[in-house]
Amino acid sequence: MEQKDLLGGKGANLAEMTRLGLPVPPGFTITTEACRAYLETGWMPPGLDREIDEHVAALERTMGRRLGDPHDPLLVSVRSGAKFSMPGMMETVLDIGLNDASVVGLGRASGSERFAYDSYRRLLQMFGATVLDIDAAAFADELEKLKAERGVFADVDLDVADLRTLVATYQRVIRQRTGRDFPQDPREQLHAAVRAVFSSWRTDRAVLYRRQEGIPEDLGTAVNVQVMVFGNRGPGSGSGVCFTRDPASGAPGVYGDYLADAQGEDVVAGIRNTVPLAGLEDLDKPAFDQLTEVMALLEEHYRDLCDIEFTIEDRHLWILQTRVGKRTPEAAFRIAHAMVTEGVIDPDEALRRVTGDQLAQLLFPHFDAAAERIHLTTGVGAAPGAASGRVALTSAKAVAWADLGEDVILVRRETNPDDLPGMIAARGVLTARGGKTSHAAVVARGMGRTCVCGADGLDIDVDRGEVLVGGRVVLEGDVVSIDGTTGDVLLGAVPVTDSPVLRHLDAGEEPAEVDRALVDAVAFVMAHAADVGRLEVRANADTPEDAARARRLGARGIGLCRTEHMFLGPRRELVERLILAEDQTARESALADLLPLQRADFVEILREMDGLPVTIRLIDPPLHEFLPDHTELAVEVALEDAHGHRSTRHHALLDAVARLHEQNPMLGLRGVRLGIAVPGLVAMQARAVLEAAADRVAAGGDPRPEIMIPLVATAAELVLVRAEVEKVASAVRTERGVDVPVRIGTMIEVPRAALTADRIAASADFFSFGTNDLTQLTWGFSRDDVEAAFFPIYRDRGILSVSPFESIDVDGVGALVGSAARLGRETRPDLHLGVCGEHGGDPRSIHFFESVGIDYVSCSPFRVPVATLEAGRAALEGRRTP
Ligand code: ADP
Ligand code: MG
Ligand code: MG
Repeated sequence: MEQKDLLGGKGANLAEMTRLGLPVPPGFTITTEACRAYLETGWMPPGLDREIDEHVAALERTMGRRLGDPHDPLLVSVRSGAKFSMPGMMETVLDIGLNDASVVGLGRASGSERFAYDSYRRLLQMFGATVLDIDAAAFADELEKLKAERGVFADVDLDVADLRTLVATYQRVIRQRTGRDFPQDPREQLHAAVRAVFSSWRTDRAVLYRRQEGIPEDLGTAVNVQVMVFGNRGPGSGSGVCFTRDPASGAPGVYGDYLADAQGEDVVAGIRNTVPLAGLEDLDKPAFDQLTEVMALLEEHYRDLCDIEFTIEDRHLWILQTRVGKRTPEAAFRIAHAMVTEGVIDPDEALRRVTGDQLAQLLFPHFDAAAERIHLTTGVGAAPGAASGRVALTSAKAVAWADLGEDVILVRRETNPDDLPGMIAARGVLTARGGKTSHAAVVARGMGRTCVCGADGLDIDVDRGEVLVGGRVVLEGDVVSIDGTTGDVLLGAVPVTDSPVLRHLDAGEEPAEVDRALVDAVAFVMAHAADVGRLEVRANADTPEDAARARRLGARGIGLCRTEHMFLGPRRELVERLILAEDQTARESALADLLPLQRADFVEILREMDGLPVTIRLIDPPLHEFLPDHTELAVEVALEDAHGHRSTRHHALLDAVARLHEQNPMLGLRGVRLGIAVPGLVAMQARAVLEAAADRVAAGGDPRPEIMIPLVATAAELVLVRAEVEKVASAVRTERGVDVPVRIGTMIEVPRAALTADRIAASADFFSFGTNDLTQLTWGFSRDDVEAAFFPIYRDRGILSVSPFESIDVDGVGALVGSAARLGRETRPDLHLGVCGEHGGDPRSIHFFESVGIDYVSCSPFRVPVATLEAGRAALEGRRTP
């Protein structure tokens, strides 16, 4: 067990800093184990109160002062601190140990009565709100009232008499609200504060934060009891927070804020304006110098950006907390790179410190930072990106305006499946209700649409065609902009800039000077990821343009080239002819006309991917997808007949549509089944691929086509189709006189195929796991139907934490993939294994695929950098735990 598991991050780091000889106020830590026991039973574990008293007694001996001493009292803080940092989510109580008697002693011993009463009112307020559960506003209101009465703006302008009054008022508030007096016994205060901090693990905001950050519920918090040091002892004292580098940009230099005559809470609470850390140098040079030394030492020790809380008491520096600091994606890459350059960490460590999600954020377009913005409100950034457009309050409006070529933002209170057309048509989606798992958020993310949801500052009136927000009226048709990362909603069009990182990766564009450090950092980490990664990254690409882009972005081939797109548009008519063919001659003639068109497609793609594998999937969707809609056609035919313009072709087509209609197309005549049912289809497609490859060989190229057969469920299907492809291959070889290399393999996307992978492998050179269909068929979920319909409910009810279509379901679908991989390789040790579902671009899934020995993943071209980065990280993980 790590120290942090028991002591929490704060406790472990306090111990570490003490060990390093830094000026840390003495104290002790109550373990997370005690907290877990308390939360489970509702009782303090036996003996804990006594143990706390013993440790306090030891502290008192060390400090030569006693808790509650009426002459010179010891004061302590009681601080929460879990294993993972949850800033501001749980409670802390300062100045424990003050009461009506010891406050007098503190005033006398410190020579400042004002300071003593300032501390006492703070204790009453924090204890009242945290331990006694009194609404914090009750105290804040009294403070405001007093300031108004005295005609002052800041708490530092209140004098001793005012603070005495405030103490009396706060004590009255406590009596009125709880029916009891504020406990005068310091030990009672301490025990109650410890219980309150334990309980603060369970507050709503803490629970919500953990859910969002993926922090387990059952860890509990440690409690740190620590001797108080005082930043509120007059102008020579103060409190601050600082960072060893800029956590926003990663730029070197020290950053932070300082507030004179204040306790730590005041700095973040924003009650007075802080001064930038550099200002401390003028106020107290020795303390500033000492602090910069401490910062350097901590960064060297933790080998990372540190964030530090400090307090200066009478020109004496105390360090109260440090942790490895949270940072933006930009800072993460820049700091990782800078630290390699400085020789602090090695490239492997740099790679471990960034994530694919962070990279993805850097690849999205952003609003121009320099552009002026009028802020309307802020919601939840649910799907990243930046989008501007006209406000449309209904799905129909969004569709209509988008059809006219307008950019549209669909603005709804919340969305439901009926809004889908509008969401598709819009540039972005904005809702007033719902969080990251709302319908709008889930669907928008799935579509790659920018989305801000839960912007509850929006008051939407669809009938009047207006939105009230922040005292303004925004009319339907007005332009707004939404930032799917920050959740900001802005008035008007804000210029959007493409990511400099993407422009560099995609087009090799030289970055502007301000972006150079970031672009260099990403390039450095990416190069290392590509170096150490074992898992190859290919792209899903159906066109030469996509193939070229994927290659520029680092793809090592195409893992999925769908051929059905090649049957659309003007070629649809040829497919109709194929379907309507009544005899072999008609069928062959339709196929013969399709052949040269398909061949030309493949020549171009193979050219773009010269020297790299291109996996071409034979036609997969049901044939009726290429035919007109049944209802529309029926109406047309009826009208023609009524007007005496009977069309034989349309009648034949209508018959075919009716004949091909399926109750459950997803489970019907598609994939390999189609290839077997429609004679000549497989041969035509195989011939197009192989002749294209032969053309490329003749032109001096290095084509590496792979023919992939979809939806195989039994080895018998594959045996049949493979033989057909091989026959074509040898025919083309003879006709062209060139040896065309080709691999023939199958998708594993039907559970039965996964279960019988050992037999299927006998006829396959490779497997490509189609994890989309495999997930649908394993769960019995029709993706298009279920994701919007009830996944949000399933997530709210805790049945699913993440959609199995987004991230591989390791226990179910993943187990099938793992066992199929093993079975396949039992038959054919050199069997090549890939994944071509959307999971191929998902970081968590990539780590899983690495762990079961998959050879490559394939994802959309834009996802290739993210997958490459995660493949590198996954390889490092594998190395650490062999
Ligand atoms: P959080 O985890 O929310 O930051 P902390 O336990 O760090 O809570 O405490 C809140 C504030 O109180 C911080 O600014 C901290 O510096 C200050 N503080 C905590 N303990 C002491 C202490 N012993 N002396 C002076 N200030 C303290
Ligand atoms: Mg803190
Ligand atoms: Mg499929």
